[in-house]
Amino acid sequence: MSSLHQRHLAVSPDWLALYYKNPVEITHGEGRHVWDADGRRYLDFFGGILTTMTAHALPEVTKAVSEQAGRIIHSSTLYLNRPMVELAERIATLSGIPDARVFFTTSGTEANDTALLLATTYRRSNQILAMRNSYHGRSFSAVSITGNSAWSPTNLSPLQTLYVHGGVRTRGPYAHLSDAEFIAGCVADLEDLLGHTREPAALIAEPIQGVGGFTSPPDGLYAAFRRVLDRHGILWISDEVQTGWGRSGEHFWGWQAHGENGPPDILTFAKGIGNGMSIGGVVARADVMNCLDANSISTFGGSPVTMAAGLANLSYLLEHDLQGNARRVGGLLIERLRAIGAASECVREVRGRGLMIGIELVKPGTDEANPEAAAAVLEAAREGGLLIGKGGGHNTSVLRIAPPLSLTIPEAEEGAEILAEALRSVE
Ligand code: PLP
Repeated sequence: MSSLHQRHLAVSPDWLALYYKNPVEITHGEGRHVWDADGRRYLDFFGGILTTMTAHALPEVTKAVSEQAGRIIHSSTLYLNRPMVELAERIATLSGIPDARVFFTTSGTEANDTALLLATTYRRSNQILAMRNSYHGRSFSAVSITGNSAWSPTNLSPLQTLYVHGGVRTRGPYAHLSDAEFIAGCVADLEDLLGHTREPAALIAEPIQGVGGFTSPPDGLYAAFRRVLDRHGILWISDEVQTGWGRSGEHFWGWQAHGENGPPDILTFAKGIGNGMSIGGVVARADVMNCLDANSISTFGGSPVTMAAGLANLSYLLEHDLQGNARRVGGLLIERLRAIGAASECVREVRGRGLMIGIELVKPGTDEANPEAAAAVLEAAREGGLLIGKGGGHNTSVLRIAPPLSLTIPEAEEGAEILAEALRSVE
């Protein structure tokens, strides 16, 4: 065990999720690669948990950060700074929400917390509808709407949460249903739930579940939910922390696969926008955003350095059509991984969209989840020079692949080869 790992163990909580028996100490990165303290280079297929959206050490972002840091690092949201206003304008326009207002936070958790504050205040109800198998962060209210109970370490909830069907499709009684039957069943379940409860404030959902193992419901599920929610005045919060910024290839936001009845009332974002700098935020219609009648700020939200990073990163993403790249390269990678999966007894399913790909592992010849194999593949891939992720809580048998969106075809092929070898070695 490295002495850094020993020092880390001495000061960190036991519940901290840390990958690898002998954890990797990352020292630097470039493009789609990172290096460890022993000088080993890895192809990065997890992008710092989907935060490195464009590329590691992207010169445009690094320059914007250092220039802004040389002018002023922090001023607080009591004052204006130009990058914050410009980034808010761009996100408001991109969000698709009419008359949108933007509030910056420093994480996805805090963004969701703010969305819950808005929705419960607007609707004067502390009841929330959330999806089974969901993950929304680790504040007290975010864990209390997290359907993945193994990632929700308390049941002393400040909110009353009701869990809705639709989050998990790949297993159990729903697996054999057609898309239309699945949607109809979930809508009937939602209607039934609303028939014997008081009026909830909002439904919060990840368009594609992230920690939940990159599971997506059929397109149109949330549009169908929306018709029901609208009848009750219940708000729709789309948690785009993992799905935003074109990662799914087909859509800029995950909600757009469900947008036939319009955009969500509230959208939350984080992760990729800062390319690793801590930016989160909430977008909401003006009447929802302005329902709070007390003053409020986030001391670090909207800080000039992070906002400068976000602006440079977003500009690069749009100018280089990285969403299109995610669609093209992600499409090829999924195809390649499906071929590899078909030859492996351990692979139950390769699923995903764009550069958000899940590989579900089972015990050979069964339908039983195989978290041990997933852990072993992670280790073997690392040995081969590839970093990947896995699902959390009940989904640790799902390998997760989410590289920076600038991934090239040769890099995708190289990563797939390492993974194929890692799978073979585990079998
Ligand atoms: N929402 C989703 C969908 C997430 O995947 C996460 C983190 O993984 C969060 C919220 C919480 O974000 P953060 O870790 O930045 O607080």
